[in-house]
Amino acid sequence: MTKLSEFGKRRQNFKFKNFTQQKLFLVQICDKKLEEESFVLFKNEEGEVLGWTEKQRQWFLRRDENTCQFVDFSGGRAKNCFNTSNLHIHFIVPPRFGLKNGFEEKDLINPLNGIAICSFHHLNFIHLDIGVLAKRWYRFDQNSYQIILKWHEILAQSQTPYWNTTWDEVLKLIAKIRTREYLRTHPDDPFPQ
Ligand SMILES: [Zn+2]
Ligand SMILES: [Zn+2]
Repeated sequence: MTKLSEFGKRRQNFKFKNFTQQKLFLVQICDKKLEEESFVLFKNEEGEVLGWTEKQRQWFLRRDENTCQFVDFSGGRAKNCFNTSNLHIHFIVPPRFGLKNGFEEKDLINPLNGIAICSFHHLNFIHLDIGVLAKRWYRFDQNSYQIILKWHEILAQSQTPYWNTTWDEVLKLIAKIRTREYLRTHPDDPFPQ
């Protein structure tokens, strides 16, 4: 949203010098509009077949202290994120995949299967096809997101993960430790069903 308000400010201060500049500016506005529209399609952030309820989302944010839990160890050293804005609740085992691979709904809508991750890490590190590919492709084909979700369906059917699984084990461990600790210190706040 900051990006958008920045854009609005820029627009106010902008004086067109010539027609080409004006045309360029209109193209920018259209791009922004497409991006917004595509975002609306992604209400539950990764286009999954099950979603967290608002109460469950809030519970995860309390458990994870409103902070991105992503740990980037791609540089050889563990680097925490600590971002506190634009948090998504990521499914460690995504439901579309889980339901076709022996998981039941209660295993998927489960405190051990969710974790708060900022939109940057969620979409650029874990769901690259949604975060990068579908976004770029959208201006050429507005069905890009739906096409990728269909592709997920096919991959799930053949037991092939459609997200980057590099961080799965670390995220599972963090979710487990945080859940145990949170339930111990907040016995009056169980995971909402
Ligand atoms: Zn996710
Ligand atoms: Zn992050």
